[in-house]
Formats: sequence, structure tokens, C-alpha cells
Amino acid sequence: MQPFYNEQQTMLATTVREFAAEKLASRADEVDENEEFPIDQFRGLAELGITGMTVPEEFGGSGGEYRDFMVVLEEVGAACGSTSTVLITHVSLGSQTIYHGGSDEQRNRWLPSLASGEKIAAFALTEPGTGSDALALETSLRRDGDEYVLNGSKLFCTNGAVADVFSVFTNHNKEAAHRGVTAVVVEKGTPGFTINPQHGKMGMKGCATAELVFDNCRIPVANRLGKEGEGYKLALKILDSSRIMIAAQCLGLAKGALDAALSYSKQRITFGKPIATRQAIQFMLADMAVELDAARLLTYRAAALYDEGLPHSKESAMAKLYASEAAGRIASKALQIHGGVGYFKPSAVERIYRDQRVTEIYEGTSEIQRLVISRALIGDL
Ligand SMILES: Cc1cc2nc3c(=O)[nH]c(=O)nc-3n(C[C@H](O)[C@H](O)[C@H](O)COP(=O)(O)OP(=O)(O)OC[C@H]3O[C@@H](n4cnc5c(N)ncnc54)[C@H](O)[C@@H]3O)c2cc1C
Repeated sequence: MQPFYNEQQTMLATTVREFAAEKLASRADEVDENEEFPIDQFRGLAELGITGMTVPEEFGGSGGEYRDFMVVLEEVGAACGSTSTVLITHVSLGSQTIYHGGSDEQRNRWLPSLASGEKIAAFALTEPGTGSDALALETSLRRDGDEYVLNGSKLFCTNGAVADVFSVFTNHNKEAAHRGVTAVVVEKGTPGFTINPQHGKMGMKGCATAELVFDNCRIPVANRLGKEGEGYKLALKILDSSRIMIAAQCLGLAKGALDAALSYSKQRITFGKPIATRQAIQFMLADMAVELDAARLLTYRAAALYDEGLPHSKESAMAKLYASEAAGRIASKALQIHGGVGYFKPSAVERIYRDQRVTEIYEGTSEIQRLVISRALIGDL
């Protein structure tokens, strides 16, 4: 347990760890192998109030700060990477976009059923032609009386194949650069809205990725989040905070890998002794533990800044960059410590090794995090 966690966070970690050991870890290989959306696991987290975390109680949520959600994600991520991605997308992308971008009427309309886990949220920014450059969005939004007409497509939408409520970023005016981006909510079943599941991911196979196609899809103007032109600011704000939760997920992946490596190194005998007695293995374990702790401290700092309402963009990029790349190094060492068995399924380290890779890509690649950090350091020239 971490000395800087308060009593509530320590209790939360214990509760979620027990739930994760019983309900998530035992199903993680199956979720991965079958590309199965972890719906029972999601419902179980909902019963614990976790799908409503960080959403205020007045909108049906269970409250809590990002530091609390960080603690949860580490435990969930250690047991099942896919479930942690599903949860982040539901809470810190989907629900938070509605909370921060929406009016009270919109919050009351969508958040209670998302917080309870009855409905599932998704966040759709990336398109076939653009991911890192959110100003190049092609999905168009045209006003027609009390409705908007939406045309275009989105790619790689996590939870997309099963979600009910989608926060979609569109371009209502390409000439206006960032002032042309507008966010709207599109509900599953809206005529003109088609969801095409995307298969074949390397890892995080349970998170129901989908392509979304909008073909003259009509949505009420009342589904717009904020004003026209406020979508870009909203997307950046949400990504700045949600990145901290990707870092927290990486702590979980890294912890899962380290725990597996520690346990295996004590059992595996070579040349008459457990491999944990060999200095080469001990030094790998030591480096893994140091990197995990450094990542946790960076993540906690970013979450604390967010919770205190302080600027956190650079620190959240630092946490995401470091935690995701550290999780990659840790997963690789854990696999090495397992030797040949680590390379075969079913093995937790083989799954973690694949699951980790996308954490260096989604919610801003490592290169984009380095851009955010270096711009904050250098300022305007
Ligand atoms: C499994 C998965 C789930 C995802 N879930 C979602 C989701 O739920 N919602 C959503 O909206 N998106 C989602 N994404 C999309 C993800 O956020 C994008 O893939 C990511 O932002 C990168 O965009 P891109 O793939 O278009 O790569 P590109 O932007 O085309 O980048 C290609 C390469 O060029 C580099 N690069 C780009 N611009 C620069 C620059 N200016 N300087 C230096 N290097 C640069 C990038 O770092 C990368 O290495 C998901 C992706 C995956 C793989």
C-alpha cells in the first residue's frame, strides 16, 4: 500500500483488488482470446459504484476525485487491461465530456444511467484521416432548423460496438480552425448512424472498438455540448485529464507484470536454484520496481493538481508518457524473466506485453506528449 494514499484510498484499493482478483483476473485471458467485451465485469464494477466515479452525486454519480479513480484503475489494470480501457473510456472520456461540456439539463439526461452502468459511454474524436491533428476533422455538422445533420466517420472508437451514448467531435466550419469544432451527443439507434465493429487488435482485445458512420444522421440541436466552436477546447480539456487515468492504467499493467515476474522468479529453478537468486534477475526486478514507483508518483502528482483545480497539462502528459513507456519496459523484462513460457498463451505477461503497447498511442501518442511537454518548457519563441 502507498504511504501517500489516505485511509479512503487505501480501503478503495483493497476492495477493488479483491474484486479484481475474483472477477477480473480469472476472466482476463478469455476476454483477450475471444475479443469479448467484459460486460459482467463492467456490471460488477457498476455495483461497486465505480462506473459513476468522479461524477458528482447530484447527477447520479458516486463522486470521488481523480486520485481515487487512479487507485481503482491501478487495481483494475493489474487484473485485466481490457476492462481498464473500457472503464477509462466510459468514465474519464465519455461521462466527463458530458459533465464538463453539458448543461445541467444534459447532465441530468445522460449521466445517471451512465454512472449506474445501465448505459455505456464512448468518445469519438479520431477519424480515418486524422488522429493526432484534431483540427483536421472532416465529420461535418450542418444546422437545419432545430436539428443538425451529421456526415462522416470515426475510427477506433473504444466501447463503440456496445455503447449507447457517444460524444462526437465534428467540424461545423473548416475555415474557422479550432473555433470550427463542435461536440454533440449521438445516441445508439439514431437513424443514419451505423456502428461497424473493428477486429484484429494486437491487445486490449475486449474493448469493443468500432468504426462509426454518420450518413445524413439527424440529431436535435439540444444534443450539442456547449456552444458551436467550443468542441476543440472541450476535447483538449478532457484529454488532459483522462491521460492521467491512462497513466494509472499503466501502473496496473506494470504491477501485474512485476507481480507475475516476482512470483515466477521465486519458483523457477535453473542450475539447482530459483532464478530469483541470480543477480541478473534481481537487478531486472529492482529496475522494474523503481520505474513503477516513479510512474506512480508522477501520476499521483498530476491527479492531485487536477483535483486541486491547478494547471496540469504538462504534468499529465509527463505522467502518461513516462508511465506508458515504463510499463512497456517492465512488461518486456517480465516476459524475459519468464523465458519461453512468457512467450506463449495463456500467460499474463504475454497478454500484458500486448495490452501495454497501445498506451503509447491512444489519448495522444508519446510524440504528442513530448510536444505538449516541450511546448510548456520552451513557451512562445
Ligand atoms: C486500440 C485503440 C483505441 C482507441 N480508442 C479511441 C477512442 O475511443 N476514441 C478516439 O477518438 N480515438 C481512439 N483511438 C485513436 C487514437 O487516439 C489515435 O490512434 C492516436 O491519437 C494517433 O492518431 P493516428 O492513429 O491517426 O496517428 P497519426 O496522427 O497519423 O500519427 C502517426 C505517427 O506520426 C506521429 N506524429 C503525428 N503528428 C506528429 C507531430 N506533429 N510531431 C511528431 N510526430 C507526429 C505520431 O506520434 C505517430 O507516431 C484509439 C486507438 C487505438 C489503437
